[in-house]
Amino acid sequence: MINKKSIEDIDPRGKNILMRVDFNVPLEGNRVRDDSRIRAALPTIETLIKEGARLVLVSHLGRPKGKSVDSLKMDPVAKRLSELIEMHVPKIDSVVGSEVEEKVQAMKDGELLMLENVRFAPEEEKNDPAFARQLAQPFDYYVNDAFGTAHRAHASTVGVAAYIPAVAGMLMKKEIEELSRCLDEPQRPLTTILGGAKVSDKINVIRRFFELADNLLVGGGMANTFLVAAGFDLGSSFYEKEQVETAAALIEQAKESRCRLLLPNDLVAVEELKPGSPHHTFKPEEVTGSWKAVDIGPETTTRFKSVIKESAMVVWNGPLGVFEIPPFDRGTGEVASGIAESKAYSVVGGGDLVAAIEMLKLSEQINFISTGGGATLEFWEGKELPGITALLDR
Ligand code: ADP
Ligand code: MG
Repeated sequence: MINKKSIEDIDPRGKNILMRVDFNVPLEGNRVRDDSRIRAALPTIETLIKEGARLVLVSHLGRPKGKSVDSLKMDPVAKRLSELIEMHVPKIDSVVGSEVEEKVQAMKDGELLMLENVRFAPEEEKNDPAFARQLAQPFDYYVNDAFGTAHRAHASTVGVAAYIPAVAGMLMKKEIEELSRCLDEPQRPLTTILGGAKVSDKINVIRRFFELADNLLVGGGMANTFLVAAGFDLGSSFYEKEQVETAAALIEQAKESRCRLLLPNDLVAVEELKPGSPHHTFKPEEVTGSWKAVDIGPETTTRFKSVIKESAMVVWNGPLGVFEIPPFDRGTGEVASGIAESKAYSVVGGGDLVAAIEMLKLSEQINFISTGGGATLEFWEGKELPGITALLDR
């Protein structure tokens, strides 16, 4: 299905394999707070180990900016991985050089090793060729399973592929397949739900799906900008002044488009954004003065759910309200439940929305949840992701 080689195209037995993973997990002191990203890479890790690879994992963690930072060492991650695969994963304090070479030479088939945070090296984010070559040096193959970092051209995501054969891991392959499904072979009606904070972050995704989808449902802070463009005042709500013109043009375009554009027709608003503050449901024209729209209202939720019910495929990015502060997670939660109850094939992407859906314990109800934030958006925009381009063509 994808035009890139994957681990299915190589024989890993006895081979030294460098695998780039996205283990950029949230830490709480010395503990991994959320291990979703580690679990997402387990299928590739387990497959390669079972097939007798000598597997060496490399990832970034946080933003050390090219310096060694004690609190961003990979040790807690190696520990959590060891627990998950019930096998000790040794971790070393370097990324390139003699320690790596000696340790890799001593590995046996089916063994694992984890390198230090690759962003401790200043050459990593510069995609320095000499560093990439050094990184590749002890290995026969390079496997990239870090979809979440595929939009960055760094030494461990792109540079290394110039020196050894580079293939996709199972997570990378699945991400590409699932995210292209709605672009290449959408089931119709295709409904796209877009939320989150800013129009400016997502304008190219909005445009792409405006062309592709049958319905475009807009919520969250982004919808405020559209509502201002439609002529509402919206009081003290968050919106982007400099995007009002763009939003107005899209509203105008929608009048002649095949794609139906649905904006909220009621909103939940507060005067002060904090837990437990008094809130009311308003029509858009009633949000004025000190009021701020922080969620879609119940009528909008019902309308969105009825569109979802009639859809064959739903693609969703961005939360529909300030989900971090309950009860303003209600619109997001109700729409997620609507997807769960529908027969539509559902694909969800975007860091904050994925966090919201996990918080609401609705992950099981979604057909595919992307592990990428920025990478997912760029993929949907139709941008070339350098980490994918660097892999061998089929
Ligand atoms: P994602 O990471 O899923 O792509 P974004 O990063 O674009 O989403 O946006 C997420 C943020 O949008 C959240 O922090 C949320 O609080 C905020 N947000 C959602 N609705 C509103 C709103 N009505 N007003 C202000 N902020 C909002
Ligand atoms: Mg975000």
